[in-house]
Amino acid sequence: MEDSIQNLAEIKKEVEQSARLFGLKKPRIPKIIAVSKNFPAETMIPLLESGHRLFGENKVQEAQSKWPGLKAKYEDIELHLIGPLQTNKTKDAMELFDVIESLDREKLAREIAKIRDKTGKCPDLLIQVNTGEEPQKAGVIPAETDALINKCRDIFNLPVKGLMCLPPADQEPSPHFALLKKIAERNGLETLSMGMSKDYTTAAAMGATHVRIGSAIFGERK
Ligand SMILES: *Cc1c(COP(=O)(O)O)cnc(C)c1O
Repeated sequence: MEDSIQNLAEIKKEVEQSARLFGLKKPRIPKIIAVSKNFPAETMIPLLESGHRLFGENKVQEAQSKWPGLKAKYEDIELHLIGPLQTNKTKDAMELFDVIESLDREKLAREIAKIRDKTGKCPDLLIQVNTGEEPQKAGVIPAETDALINKCRDIFNLPVKGLMCLPPADQEPSPHFALLKKIAERNGLETLSMGMSKDYTTAAAMGATHVRIGSAIFGERK
């Protein structure tokens, strides 16, 4: 059996166990976003053939070179943009992605709304929160998140479904996951995209609805 299929099956089991054993009263079993960045389209075939449909990419251009072909061949693929989005790539991103997880500023919200008004179509959106307030990292800082959520909903009428975070690599992730959950709850948002290859069991136990897993499925990236 292909490694990626086996890896995904094991991760699925672990995520489910963590959510049930340590999770909330009403556990939510997180969905697994297979992060395919830096791997070629053909690497995805075994997972697609096995029925997996949920994938994530962090660059618009790379995704454009891989996913239109796969989407034509396999029905019901759900592709998430998990990397920063430049405003001038918004239209391309909205054409290809089913969910954009990296909405983090008003200018981008305005551009998404403008394109939605023209095309009548809009992917579901998550707001990326820079929970560690790292200057080099994308995402709105926690103190400004409520205001951005409100603007997206009330002014631009955008389909904001939840939040995403990427905790600092050198820190214990659980306080970041807890903060993300708190912000989501007070804003009535359901979706929580948090947890990657190193911390998905923690994220699952803390109420993630989606975990984003790359290397634990496909191996180390070059
Ligand atoms: C690359 C990436 C992931 C997956 O990382 P792994 O550690 O390989 O699981 C998850 N989220 C984002 C935003 C990424 O860029």
